[in-house]
Amino acid sequence: MGSFRGVDYMHLDSLLTDEERLVRQSVRDFVDAEIIPVIKDCYNQGRFPSQIVSKMGHMGFFGANLKGYGCAEMSNVEYGLLMQELERGDSGVRSFCSVQGALVMYPILTYGSDEQKQKWLPRLQSGEAIGCFGLTEPGFGSNPAGMQTTARKVGSEWTINGEKTWITNGGVSQVALVWARTDEGVRGFLIETGTPGYTIRDIHGKLSMRASVTSSLSIEECKVPESAMLPLAKGLKAPLSCLTQARYGIGWGVLGAAMDCFETARQYTILRKQFDDKPIASHQLVQDKLAWMVTEITKAQLLALHTGRLKDQGKLEPAHVSMLKRNNVGMALECARLSRDLLGANGIMDEYPIMRHMCNLETVKTYEGTDHIHTLVIGERVTGVPAYK
Ligand SMILES: Cc1cc2nc3c(=O)[nH]c(=O)nc-3n(C[C@H](O)[C@H](O)[C@H](O)COP(=O)(O)OP(=O)(O)OC[C@H]3O[C@@H](n4cnc5c(N)ncnc54)[C@H](O)[C@@H]3O)c2cc1C
Repeated sequence: MGSFRGVDYMHLDSLLTDEERLVRQSVRDFVDAEIIPVIKDCYNQGRFPSQIVSKMGHMGFFGANLKGYGCAEMSNVEYGLLMQELERGDSGVRSFCSVQGALVMYPILTYGSDEQKQKWLPRLQSGEAIGCFGLTEPGFGSNPAGMQTTARKVGSEWTINGEKTWITNGGVSQVALVWARTDEGVRGFLIETGTPGYTIRDIHGKLSMRASVTSSLSIEECKVPESAMLPLAKGLKAPLSCLTQARYGIGWGVLGAAMDCFETARQYTILRKQFDDKPIASHQLVQDKLAWMVTEITKAQLLALHTGRLKDQGKLEPAHVSMLKRNNVGMALECARLSRDLLGANGIMDEYPIMRHMCNLETVKTYEGTDHIHTLVIGERVTGVPAYK
């Protein structure tokens, strides 16, 4: 297969600026050169391709839509295209970048002290430091309001106790943003790896996101100075605002996985012959699947682009992002399943990217608000009635 040309059924490229297309092409080239050649082995071996971190930092991928501290200051549409291209490589690589930028750098920039910004943002931007975001707990996933991790103020220090799990980048991070319950509500704390009482254990046995590190964080009588708390992050709305940033990137990212699956299946069905030496692409049932995929990809591209333009205009609401995440992840997962089917037995092989994308997308459906939870957000938005409990 030649290098990736994207999927543009409706000339949507004409809606992008030259600069946006340039960003997309440079990330596309990066993915072809640095991710595609290694990702199959990384995935099979359950290993993150750590050699790309400093290169991604150098390319300006981390916190790319944030301002200052060496960040690339991309528009939100450019940032979305970056996520799209990275996820064409692998959802685990896009997750790495999402966590670093949207879940660690964004909260430090938005809610942190000057000292925290100076200390962490340049290092996180360059990839010299890696961060993780600890919200989920063993007993509280979809409902973070139930969190049991606590932080107690003792003199000039905070003592933190709790357990966080399913934490992307945990085992490769130098700093964790851990959310904990205090007397003043939920607050965020920057805990540095190596702090006594803070231990990280990687989760093994994943059949999805195998090229991404996922860990549990154990926090036992862990003492951090007052200066470790993000001063402006008050209440659960602070971590939720970070999730909105990350979900926005996911809504774009999954387009990359979906396009890769569609394009792989399209090319395969034209070449593969069955029954009287005819390409399987000549059968109506096969074309039905291809037509469904390219239609849904096109609709999802429009949704992502419009969401991005709204974000750039400062008009984007969390409930809009829920629609983007829910629709585009569901669409990508269905494209992966249909493409897998169209490749027959070859569809299960690691020679093709489809099964890897499909397994990864099962995680993407679950994390950052499950499909159900985003359905409830949209339901509440249109009825005014919350249905979470
Ligand atoms: C690979 C991976 C990486 C992750 N990375 C991070 C990370 O970096 N940081 C972090 O904090 N977390 C992370 N997560 C955790 C992720 O955000 C949670 O798994 C997610 O929020 C769902 O929580 P849960 O797994 O506990 O499922 P549950 O909340 O137990 O949900 C199980 C099922 O019940 C459904 N359900 C629950 N409540 C309702 C309801 N009210 N109505 C209808 N259906 C409902 C859900 O939709 C789902 O189908 C990661 C997860 C994975 C798999």
